[in-house]
Amino acid sequence: RFMGTKQSFHKSDLTFQERPNLKPKPAADHQYTFGGLSTDYMLEINYDVHNGGWQRPLIKANEPFELDPANATLHYSIECFEGLKAYITHDDRTMLFRPDKNFERMNSSHRQLGFPEFNPKEMTECLKELIKIEKEWIPRRPMHSLYVRPTSICMDDRLSLSKVEKMKTFIILSPVGPYYPRGFVPVKLYCDTNTVRAWPQGFGDKKIGGNYGPTLRTSRMGNLKFGTDQVLWLLHDWVTEAGTMNFFVFWKNEEGEDELITPPLDGTILPGVTRDSILTLTKELRQFKVSTRPFKIQELMKACTEKRVYEAFGAGTAAIVSPVQSFVYDNVTYEIPVDKEKGAGKLTQRILQMMLDLQDGKTNRPEWQFYV
Ligand code: PMP
Repeated sequence: RFMGTKQSFHKSDLTFQERPNLKPKPAADHQYTFGGLSTDYMLEINYDVHNGGWQRPLIKANEPFELDPANATLHYSIECFEGLKAYITHDDRTMLFRPDKNFERMNSSHRQLGFPEFNPKEMTECLKELIKIEKEWIPRRPMHSLYVRPTSICMDDRLSLSKVEKMKTFIILSPVGPYYPRGFVPVKLYCDTNTVRAWPQGFGDKKIGGNYGPTLRTSRMGNLKFGTDQVLWLLHDWVTEAGTMNFFVFWKNEEGEDELITPPLDGTILPGVTRDSILTLTKELRQFKVSTRPFKIQELMKACTEKRVYEAFGAGTAAIVSPVQSFVYDNVTYEIPVDKEKGAGKLTQRILQMMLDLQDGKTNRPEWQFYV
């Protein structure tokens, strides 16, 4: 695309700039909050179309950097990000879960924003080096992990909205605890009929900042009016996703079959890595029908009224699965069954366990498990 520029950066060019002193590590009983801590180092790769394209990847101190007030990212959200995790397995190895999927998705965001693409394998190898250096930051406690946040921003300092010439990709790390420290807490969802998060032929399937900031208002409205936790995003009554999670329903469908259903990847929802993993794992069980097809909120309302819904949950990297206990549509609350004691349905619990066993290295699936 750009004559004479590199197609990707390479791990073989990676350099390490040691910092003079390290931050103190958190205490053994530290209560981790999501994103509350950052580690000592970050990976940084700059790009400049006028200077050979991709520069050498660098691991350096994670510290603030300066931006010009006219930096285009600040004005036009020419920005994308990713979220994945590194785990310490039961046999004390370090593992990344499906980073290839995240970096493919990041490339798709790059294409949307006019950022240059990169080789996901090279990115994964650079990330592995960063994780090796920062391994001590991964809490050696059950359900803890190291959250990995790749980010790309435009570095052009001009107020005209035009083609990206300079950009920066970086990866920062943050140690995190369990999403549900005291067992599942099922969430309440709010369906808003006045706003849509994404639309056909739009950008809803890209992990770009512009898809996130504007959702806060709807979320806050649901919370103020109905005490809900997240938004169940609808597109003219078609169910799409829940907050920053993909949405699954396990029900007896109109044909009387047990079915696990989630909306298809039609461009209006994020192609979640957890979603993909759950679809693969549940299909392999061969115990019920697994479908990716569009469905309307009215179908879910009818199923709730007819007591055909077994359980519903959100799926994403942060919580893996998040049980849903109710949703509000047009001022009416619809209840979804959850096990009173466990806070989640049987299938939700089972899926969580299958995912935890993979991330803990107790079950093997080499194509998903990237040992560092
Ligand atoms: N939908 C949205 C809008 C998200 O931000 C996320 C989190 N990345 C997901 C779904 C779940 O994706 P993943 O399973 O890859 O974390």
